[in-house]
Amino acid sequence: MDRVIILRYSEIHLKGKNRAFFENILKRNIIEKLKGINCRTEFYYGRYIVSDYDAESEREIVSRLKTVFGLYSLSAGLRTGADTDGIAEAAASICKSKGSFRVTASRADKTLPYTSVQLATEIGGRMLELHPGLTVDLHTPDFTIFIDVRDHATAYVYGESVLCAGGMPVGSAGKGLSLLSGGIDSPVSTYMMAKRGLKLTELHFWSYPYTSLEAKEKVIELARILHKFTGDTQLVIIPFTKVQEAIHKYAEPNYMITLVRRAMMRIAERIAEKFGCGCIINGEDLGQVASQTLESITVTNSVIKRLPVFRPLIGFDKSEIVERSKAIGTYETSIKPYEDCCTVFLPESPATKPTLRRSELSESKISDYEELISEAVDNAEIIPVTE
Ligand code: ATP
Ligand code: MG
Repeated sequence: MDRVIILRYSEIHLKGKNRAFFENILKRNIIEKLKGINCRTEFYYGRYIVSDYDAESEREIVSRLKTVFGLYSLSAGLRTGADTDGIAEAAASICKSKGSFRVTASRADKTLPYTSVQLATEIGGRMLELHPGLTVDLHTPDFTIFIDVRDHATAYVYGESVLCAGGMPVGSAGKGLSLLSGGIDSPVSTYMMAKRGLKLTELHFWSYPYTSLEAKEKVIELARILHKFTGDTQLVIIPFTKVQEAIHKYAEPNYMITLVRRAMMRIAERIAEKFGCGCIINGEDLGQVASQTLESITVTNSVIKRLPVFRPLIGFDKSEIVERSKAIGTYETSIKPYEDCCTVFLPESPATKPTLRRSELSESKISDYEELISEAVDNAEIIPVTE
């Protein structure tokens, strides 16, 4: 009898012919995630097992695997032979001594000398003998003992399942560029698109000295927190000061944010292409602030010519985003009070209904606009995020 962790994957089982493609990426991500822990990974059809680890590592393995996208749930349990004595011994070691319970058994191999119902009844009976404080309740038990017999040599016995992160394995949906500010929203949008299987590069616009060194540190910290979901990635930092100063000099004040966001998107598209990313992601949320009205989004989106822009938070309430940022562990860092470059040269009343014509007119007054954009792209700093 040995301790094992049983893993179940999420939507991959819906995949037909390409299932192997998704499975292989998921296996690779699981192995990568468990790097540094002494254990063995076994991959069977539709069922993955972690075995051969020290008891003290179990908690750490579970905690790491809970953040692997593509896994639906896991259970820590026992692996034993398919004989009823072995199964009963395993069941006894996870069975509580009081309360109501049921045994749920399944068997993959129909040549076994018992049916699932016979096995469940037998094991249930033995547990009742062992603990007089137990009662059977098939409908709303306090706990369930699950027995999954695979073949004549192998049965898995476990109690509850723990939900994992769900989604699709990171890397299975291609690559994306996520715009990461130091705010609450964009770490959540980054998380959400990693969850749908994108391998992400992260992009941050930094306007030193208007935005401080601490603001940059904060974004690096957010990228590190997100690492457990994104895996190894790169954080690209764009020196954005000159672009913002030029816009500030020539733009109508209430178009400042609109033009800054258009410049960000232009740069983002170039960086995306440089890094082989097939889409751009941001944390915009319809109606949240002036730059996120339908008109503002239309005017900023129009500079993007070749790639789709994904806005996974577009229909969320702020409170829902806050809740998610707390759940993924980015909230406490996001609320640290360092300025984002969007708040530099902030006008008193930003345009909520900007037009394309007026935006382009302002931009045309910046004689070296194109050079400034290219220079910002060329001077990007690349920070590897590996933990
Ligand atoms: P957040 O909480 O993510 O900062 P926000 O509500 O403050 O969002 P905006 O400042 O309008 O909204 O930014 C909208 C989106 O634009 C952000 O979610 C992010 O994806 C991107 N963005 C804003 N500022 C930056 C920046 N300095 N670097 C990279 N991306 C940015
Ligand atoms: Mg912001």
